[in-house]
Amino acid sequence: MWVLSRKDALAALKAEEFDVVVIGGGVTGAGVALDAASRGYSVAIVERADWASGTSSRSSKMVHGGLRYLQNFDLGLVREALMERQLMVELAPHLVYPTPFLVPSLGDDRRNRMIGIGLNMYDVMATTRVGSSRRERKRETALRGEGSDEAPDPERWAPDRHRTIPGEEAAELVPALAALDPREAYLFYDCQTDDVRLVLTILGEADRFGVVSLIGVEVTELIQENGLAAGVSCRETESGEEFEVKAQNVINATGVWADRIRPEEIHDEAEVPRIAPSRGTHVTVSQDDLEIGTAACIVPAGEDRTIFALPWYGRTLIGTTDRDYEGELSHIEPSGEDVDYLLSAVNSFFATDLSRSHVTGAYAGVRPLISTGDPRKSVDISRKAELYETSSGMLTITGGKLTTWRRMAKHVVDRLVEREGRVAPCRTADLPLGMPADDSDLAALDANGHDALRTLLRFRYGQFSARILRLAGEDEALMAPISNGMPDILAEVLIAARFEQARSVGDVLLRRTRLGILAAPELRTEESVGPVAEILGAELGWSEKEVASSAKAWLDEAAAEGIDPAAAA
Ligand SMILES: Cc1cc2nc3c(=O)[nH]c(=O)nc-3n(C[C@H](O)[C@H](O)[C@H](O)COP(=O)(O)OP(=O)(O)OC[C@H]3O[C@@H](n4cnc5c(N)ncnc54)[C@H](O)[C@@H]3O)c2cc1C
Repeated sequence: MWVLSRKDALAALKAEEFDVVVIGGGVTGAGVALDAASRGYSVAIVERADWASGTSSRSSKMVHGGLRYLQNFDLGLVREALMERQLMVELAPHLVYPTPFLVPSLGDDRRNRMIGIGLNMYDVMATTRVGSSRRERKRETALRGEGSDEAPDPERWAPDRHRTIPGEEAAELVPALAALDPREAYLFYDCQTDDVRLVLTILGEADRFGVVSLIGVEVTELIQENGLAAGVSCRETESGEEFEVKAQNVINATGVWADRIRPEEIHDEAEVPRIAPSRGTHVTVSQDDLEIGTAACIVPAGEDRTIFALPWYGRTLIGTTDRDYEGELSHIEPSGEDVDYLLSAVNSFFATDLSRSHVTGAYAGVRPLISTGDPRKSVDISRKAELYETSSGMLTITGGKLTTWRRMAKHVVDRLVEREGRVAPCRTADLPLGMPADDSDLAALDANGHDALRTLLRFRYGQFSARILRLAGEDEALMAPISNGMPDILAEVLIAARFEQARSVGDVLLRRTRLGILAAPELRTEESVGPVAEILGAELGWSEKEVASSAKAWLDEAAAEGIDPAAAA
């Protein structure tokens, strides 16, 4: 939730000289901004399009260790991600929550022993008490107070060990399995979130530490003084106005675009590998069409591959694919072939008959791959974070995962601190991310109604829900749903424009809410998004013509993003 208006943020960017400027408003850049500011740096962060509009809105929304990385024996990475998973549940309990995952065996299938072995390792690596590292035990003691004999908090979430459950229990957890008469299933736990809301929440905390942050600001070049980075040249995308942001340190957190800032410096000096993106596609369908309840299910998808079906915002989220991608990166459209592949894998496992007409939304993101020439041997480097320091002093951070954003940010800011010879330990492991709502924050909702809205507000906004409901209380029209059949309400549009920098219908539908990928067929016409455009227009001072053109721009954006495969067919 931002304090500065766009006008004031722009003025501050132009006038102030910062310690640090961060380029890129995905989870990595947001994390760096929060970490640096909480260690006492003055920080600016600029994003070309919208917060999280890159890969950070296109993930599978899991905060996880990554069971599949165990196959490559990336034990350190899995362990690190599992520790971060634990921490995220503690720091943002309203936004990062555990979900049961099932690996069912059907018919004559034997339980896959390799999965059992992998899950045993996953259990061991997720353990923070017994078997916890000395450093972690020290941290736990430090958090409770030195010399304290107080026991660790029993309320702390710790995943249960995996176990095998009988078929009936599996079918209770995932109703879509019932008709298949499953023999048994492995049950383990991982966590889920809303990737965009995670980014916005991190930025909201950064704002409290005085970070100046703005979207619609593209970095065009590095400014150098005496060979050293001294800030960035920018262009405000709407007005085209060019200006400079002065800063002693420049952090490049532009994800798959990392080699577009100073390409010669990045490739020649740091030997950052040239990346060959691979596309990961996801679709959502109604739980009426594939009822997976509140548990996730791992689904075989041929050739030893698996996909998953996850419960998310009341829908079933199915993903993901992994295919070479050569298109442009600003709008990554899910291919029809990928959508059909996901639906066909689900159909053959669950014996369903899902087609593109059942899809309630689709999206795709790209992972960076090191191309070895042989596509079958391409190495997925996206999970491994790398920090590059080049001759100008610019720090470029690439790779990693949504889950490990905090560690990546720490890595960057540790290097800043080290090269300045300062002593400033990282604080983000102890900084709550947002505040969970309590019952009084949601008291404005009837005790016996609005269950879906109550759940949604708690998850998405935590304590800030009270503010949204206050606005809705002042104007009843704001309690109306943005899209029929979905719980999101029009008051959220106002909040998005007033406190979260949203500037377009797409910002609201694709990122502040996720309706664009949850209810795409309901948002096919200008009329269907009219109320969103009108509320944005009233808040941002648009003319009637601008309101109309923003509704139309949504249709173009939705088509470019390919969120509605049935409409595209
Ligand atoms: C299909 C898929 C599924 C995934 N699922 C998971 C998962 O379930 N769990 C998990 O932990 N991880 C997952 N990941 C990984 C995770 O999503 C990424 O590691 C993470 O989102 C990358 O964040 P980032 O901030 O580095 O990059 P991005 O989110 O791409 O942010 C970079 C930003 O920089 C901006 N930018 C670029 N150039 C400029 C410029 N010149 N000026 C200003 N701004 C600029 C872009 O607009 C963009 O917003 C997944 C990745 C993919 C592809």
